[in-house]
Amino acid sequence: MRIVDLIGVDGPVFSFEFFPPKTEQGERNLYRTIDHLRELRPTFVSVTYGAGGSTRDKTVEIVSRIKHSIGIEAMAHLTCVGADQDEIESVMQRLQAAGIENVLALRGDPPRDQKEFVRTERGFGYASELVRFIRARGFPFCLGGACYPEGHVECADREADLANLKTKVDFGLDFVITQLFFDNTDYVAFVARARACGVRVPIIPGIMPITNLAQIERFTSMCGARIPPDLKARLEHVRDDEEAVRSIGIEHATAQCRDLLARGAPGIHFYTLNQSPATRAICERLQG
Ligand SMILES: Cc1cc2nc3c(=O)[nH]c(=O)nc-3n(C[C@H](O)[C@H](O)[C@H](O)COP(=O)(O)OP(=O)(O)OC[C@H]3O[C@@H](n4cnc5c(N)ncnc54)[C@H](O)[C@@H]3O)c2cc1C
Repeated sequence: MRIVDLIGVDGPVFSFEFFPPKTEQGERNLYRTIDHLRELRPTFVSVTYGAGGSTRDKTVEIVSRIKHSIGIEAMAHLTCVGADQDEIESVMQRLQAAGIENVLALRGDPPRDQKEFVRTERGFGYASELVRFIRARGFPFCLGGACYPEGHVECADREADLANLKTKVDFGLDFVITQLFFDNTDYVAFVARARACGVRVPIIPGIMPITNLAQIERFTSMCGARIPPDLKARLEHVRDDEEAVRSIGIEHATAQCRDLLARGAPGIHFYTLNQSPATRAICERLQG
């Protein structure tokens, strides 16, 4: 099924994001996590796309297994990092041959040893170029893209960032998923600004439950998301008590999701980090 055809049909869409594990043990854990989360009947799940060749093969393999053997609709992420047009086209051919209908088209983050994103020879510099290419080649994928309620870290000018999003959508995105954020006013204001500049596609909020303070500080420093001061203070207060951090994280994310859905968000995309307990606890509270 094309994800865009599932949005707004039968209540909010719920989706879970996973990454391809590097080890066999990690892979066993991933499938155990998926098993725990499938009872929550997600609308779809997605699998990220890394920088190395073997992890990229894993993305195709895992989405295919999730869709065909586990029976959950699955979306493959795809980036422009370190690949030329032919390599990207060959991944798309493999995804199509595997019966995958949904792709999240991204520029990608620079690999760890590079400060800035570098376009390869005959490669793409922006997600919009990837989207244009996929459409020009006639691939029938339902295409998603990324967006940034607090602005993308590399773009100081929020209006320019929004105009770049509009270009990418106009080239053929069917929906977008936001970067993680912790303050819903950022999402609401962003959706209003996006609508005002002519972005009409569904904007699905991306939520990452906080389970570990040091980890979330690392993520937010990389992606530029802001932890509101009152939430930060509560977390700081219990910094070394993992259970207390987890409980505050679940409580905050649950309240965030309830409020987003009440304000008309089309669903929630959970960044699970391949762990089920927090996402499961939040979904059970939302569905209960
Ligand atoms: C839901 C989600 C899933 C993700 N999954 C992955 C994943 O699987 N693998 C991975 O590596 N990363 C992933 N990322 C991270 C993402 O790759 C990074 O945030 C990356 O830095 C930007 O990707 P993009 O597709 O948004 O790029 P773009 O839309 O190309 O934007 C990148 C930057 O370029 C600017 N820009 C765009 N067009 C132009 C232009 N024409 N001229 C000048 N500036 C321009 C934008 O304003 C922005 O600052 C994900 C992010 C999200 C939100």
